[in-house]
Amino acid sequence: MTQLLNGNKLAIDIRKEISKEIEKNIRNKKKRLPHLGIILLGTNSSSLTYVNSKIQECKNIGIESSLIHLPNDSSERELLKEIQKMNNNPLIDGFIVQLPLQKHINSDKIIMSINPKKDVDGFHPENFGKMSLDMKAFVPATALGILTILDRYKIEISGKHTVVIGRSRIVGRPISILMSRKNYLGNSTVTLTHSHTPNIDYYTKQADIIITAVGCPGFLTGKMIKKGAIVIDVGITIVKDGKKSFLKGDVDFNSVYGKASYITPVPGGVGPMTRIMLIKNTLMAALNNENK
Ligand code: NAP
Repeated sequence: MTQLLNGNKLAIDIRKEISKEIEKNIRNKKKRLPHLGIILLGTNSSSLTYVNSKIQECKNIGIESSLIHLPNDSSERELLKEIQKMNNNPLIDGFIVQLPLQKHINSDKIIMSINPKKDVDGFHPENFGKMSLDMKAFVPATALGILTILDRYKIEISGKHTVVIGRSRIVGRPISILMSRKNYLGNSTVTLTHSHTPNIDYYTKQADIIITAVGCPGFLTGKMIKKGAIVIDVGITIVKDGKKSFLKGDVDFNSVYGKASYITPVPGGVGPMTRIMLIKNTLMAALNNENK
């Protein structure tokens, strides 16, 4: 039998825990509420959806958020100026620049310009490096969400073979590093695969845990996994069927369900956990902020 890993339910539990911590360590001490800044460039529909859901999550939990929405054709210099304002604003505890950015913007330069102490996405090399070295750092929200799912469902990672599909900076690479860390919630043997990996099913068939972050609906089928594998589906693709549109994961759910031991659904798996982990990182930034 396959058990669903219910990200919606976990996110509700974690929301309550965060609210309690805000009550205890912020409201009761008469401190300012945590404040998340978001910079969005342009009107890409997926980015708009993601940003709106992040703002909604802040509202649900009762923390502050500010959105700076710049036009599509804003220059790199204009974006850098907004980042400096967020860096210098003592009332902003942490902020993100919604990715992906337009082709005329150098994303590396943008990420490097964010104050690492406010980098609640965990994409700045200082945080990414610290994470890789098992030091305290902001960890990218999706990777943190996946680890939290595995932890809360008491799924053993140590000694297991994990195959990650996709090596992006925001998902595949950080989760492959975290799963292999010499740490509680680590100690897995990790194979990181990508578009240049021939015969991916050779690897996936051996995996105890498969984490797929490709963005290709139905990519991972039942034939590609061994019985009892744990399957974490990060993929989210909007698929149109006539006038209706649906969210699809990377996993061919029908063929994997029944063969896997655990699976995250799409929607309702990793997505809600990503949003709540961003809030968790913002709370961490707020508690570290000396200007409170
Ligand atoms: P990305 O930057 O486009 O990376 C996709 C990765 O998949 C790349 O490493 C690419 O390999 C690899 N890939 C592409 N085709 C492949 C193939 N045929 N076989 C094996 N690997 C292949 O995407 P991303 O930002 O990581 O996002 C991936 C998916 O996760 C998207 O659907 C996105 O919407 C979703 N996502 C979901 C959440 C969430 O909260 N649930 C958060 C973030 C992203 P190369 O490196 O060789 O190009």
